[in-house]
Amino acid sequence: MSAVVRRLRETVSALHQELVRYNLVAWTAGNVSGRVPGEDLFVIKPSGVMYEDLTPESIVVCDLDGELVEGDLAPSSDTAAHAYVYRMMPQVGGVVHTHSTYASAWAARDEAIPCVLTAMADEFGGEIPVGPFALIGGDDIGKGIVATLEGHRSPAVLMRNHGVFTIGADARAAVKAAVMCEDVARTVHVARQLGEPVPIAQSDIDSLYNRYQNVYGQRSPR
Ligand SMILES: [Zn+2]
Repeated sequence: MSAVVRRLRETVSALHQELVRYNLVAWTAGNVSGRVPGEDLFVIKPSGVMYEDLTPESIVVCDLDGELVEGDLAPSSDTAAHAYVYRMMPQVGGVVHTHSTYASAWAARDEAIPCVLTAMADEFGGEIPVGPFALIGGDDIGKGIVATLEGHRSPAVLMRNHGVFTIGADARAAVKAAVMCEDVARTVHVARQLGEPVPIAQSDIDSLYNRYQNVYGQRSPR
């Protein structure tokens, strides 16, 4: 096993603890995967393992058809959806799936989360869209994710009656999108209880998004 894969297994194992820390998962229902740079492989959570029992060694390696390449356990039941996203979106280096409460409540109503917070404009560049209803198994969930995300700047999609899938340049970025998705889903839900949230003008969404994506934060070291 290469050092790159070993490190990625450590990273993805540790990132699952962030799903727990941010209260995005119940029991074992949520998973993180990460693409192996330069290879047609990704690493993902094994199926049915409790988060506290996850170790880097228990994280499994799959090819882009979702077939197990290395590991002692069966891959997550969501592996086909992750694999489809990696096949179709070469820029994606990480995928996360959760049933986080507030975001899934929007998905249950088949309602996109409107862009009514500057933090949403920053992170998502607009609404967080809803993808189609799809049964697990085969490529239907993956197709719904990719078709919906391709029409939006959002790195998060609410799959109708199901939950959240997020993408990122790496696994950590996809986890961040899952955390932020739940955060804004909750705030906009609360706002809705008190009245009708006020939309942000598209030109303002565009400038917030461009600033945050290109200027905000520390310059990355070379
Ligand atoms: Zn699910």
